[in-house]
Amino acid sequence: MCFDGDGAHCLPVIPGPPADPDYQYTGRFPAPARWIDRDRVGDGAKVAASFALKELFNPSAEGRFVALSPSAVSALQRVRDDWHQRTGAGLRITSGFRSPGRNAAVGGVANSRHTYGDAFDFKPTTGQWDQPTRLAMLQLCKAHGFNERLAYSPAKGGHVHCAMDPGQAWRDGKVGFDAWIVRAEDGSWKAEWAGLEAEGEPALVWRVEGVEAPPVEGLTFTAPEGASKVLLTVADVAFCEAPIDATGRIPCETNAAPAAPAPAEKAPASK
Ligand SMILES: [Zn+2]
Repeated sequence: MCFDGDGAHCLPVIPGPPADPDYQYTGRFPAPARWIDRDRVGDGAKVAASFALKELFNPSAEGRFVALSPSAVSALQRVRDDWHQRTGAGLRITSGFRSPGRNAAVGGVANSRHTYGDAFDFKPTTGQWDQPTRLAMLQLCKAHGFNERLAYSPAKGGHVHCAMDPGQAWRDGKVGFDAWIVRAEDGSWKAEWAGLEAEGEPALVWRVEGVEAPPVEGLTFTAPEGASKVLLTVADVAFCEAPIDATGRIPCETNAAPAAPAPAEKAPASK
């Protein structure tokens, strides 16, 4: 099976899934049909121009068999190439294929795309992880065909999760999770969500209208004096807004967030 679309990097595969408790697929999607036997091909085998097999899963944690989607691997290679071309930096893959057993052990959501070998978590090798960087990376994922895209908080290490989900996320332009904001009695705000890949805390960026204030990242937020409206992006893909005097639980639009707030340009130095 060739993993890079141009037939240059091909590995022998076997039918599966393997008969082992770690490889039990119980979701509505069938288990991957073709598997790589690590013992046969070796972890150093190339699966695409700049990816060795061992970069796309955790070699010390996973079992003998690995499944990878050729279309996702070739898209990941294109994302890496584009990122390098634009920034001169590399991408570090922090998670790729996880067997269902391993995925459960690390707290991944059941039926995570990681168990199908078409989801990858990664970050720039520079360690830069502000919202413009994340949005640029999510944009590359979109351009290269990943239809499930989420960004995780810098507070927890941070990464983007880009996957090819045949079923749920981004159906009808909606992201695959719910989010809402809650205003506490003391006037502070808190972000909450459900149904998101449980890989950490989603990136949470708060902004206000009515007064000039820099965006703030974090789970909770206290609006500055004079603000008329509170705005929040969740995972850099869902969008919420509420008038400053709102009460209770305000659901977010889980349609795509509005266009990225101008990334590259530096704001003129104020005072
Ligand atoms: Zn992920």
